[in-house]
Amino acid sequence: MRVTFPHMGNLHISLKAMFHYLGVEVVLPPPSSKRTLTIGVKYGPEFACMPLKLNLGNFIEACEMGADTIVMAGGCGPCRFGYYAQIEHAILKGLGYDMQLIVLEPPERHISELLVKIRRITGNRSWWRVIQAIRFGFQKARAVDEIEMAAFKIRPRELRAGSADEAYNRALELIDRASSMDELLANRKKAMEIMNGVAVDQNRRVLRVGIIGEIYTLLEPFANHALERQLGRLGAEVDRSIYLSEWVNDHLFLGLVKGLRSRKAACGAAFPYLRHFVGGHGQETVGSAVNYARAGYDGLVQVFPFTCMPEIVAESILPGVSGDFNIPVLTLIMDEHTGEAGLVTRLEAFVDLLERKKEFKEAFVQ
Ligand code: SF4
Repeated sequence: MRVTFPHMGNLHISLKAMFHYLGVEVVLPPPSSKRTLTIGVKYGPEFACMPLKLNLGNFIEACEMGADTIVMAGGCGPCRFGYYAQIEHAILKGLGYDMQLIVLEPPERHISELLVKIRRITGNRSWWRVIQAIRFGFQKARAVDEIEMAAFKIRPRELRAGSADEAYNRALELIDRASSMDELLANRKKAMEIMNGVAVDQNRRVLRVGIIGEIYTLLEPFANHALERQLGRLGAEVDRSIYLSEWVNDHLFLGLVKGLRSRKAACGAAFPYLRHFVGGHGQETVGSAVNYARAGYDGLVQVFPFTCMPEIVAESILPGVSGDFNIPVLTLIMDEHTGEAGLVTRLEAFVDLLERKKEFKEAFVQ
């Protein structure tokens, strides 16, 4: 069995670690690129949202490299995510790619439902080994999230342009390389030392921007044109409403790991703007907007793929949050036609607006 999975930010670091721990061969598709998107656009339905097209491109590129089994997450309505895996599988079959599909879905009743599907991949390896592998993958996700959070703080304050990104890449490499829990613990420490070693101006005045929206476009830099980096370079410290380890804890571990932000808390904060589930992360988007506004953030950027229904619902509600909390919101909708230059121009204008608003507020207080 030669397993592959779609890219979504740094997800591959955790999944690869988990499969290697179990001795399962992994075929990692090349990072998502223009080629990946072109393939996905060519064979995917025109009306499908961009993540489906990029996933499809990842699978075809992995199949060209010899992968024979796809492992991916599944979900439920009311958005289209629940159909993704089956549609992609049917398209691949139609194109002559004979691949086995294993869909890991949030367990409906018990975590054992998920473990049974994992056993399909791991064969007769012991349960203990499987649980250790999941734990190892999850710890890698935690380490990666920690490094990302550090990069978000350092980027707008770095003294030498590009030094935060260099440290970030080196730190991620260390986490990726760790092949045992002991090595991961040691490398996690070294990685944070690398991040903390970047020379910064602690007194620099920076803006704080919360990034909210649909999970795939939030986590995958190719899909969002490296939004976090662009904002960091423009002098904004960012935070993201969803991190990978939080998603795993909420959806696959049913919140077993304590001390992480939870979906439940974000959805609670959405009340009274949005009182029920609308699919995807629409409700979390609204709740996170409220939480960032309450925490004193200067602005919000909502990002989602063109035609993403849950985020369109959230978009229609965000002006109410923006008005009530006096916090500007910029909405960015991504598809295969989105160009980086146009996006950067919009971000520059938004950051200018936030700076002027902040200056005005400070002058008024004095
Ligand atoms: S959440 Fe949005 S982008 Fe994701 S599958 Fe649903 S409609 Fe598509």
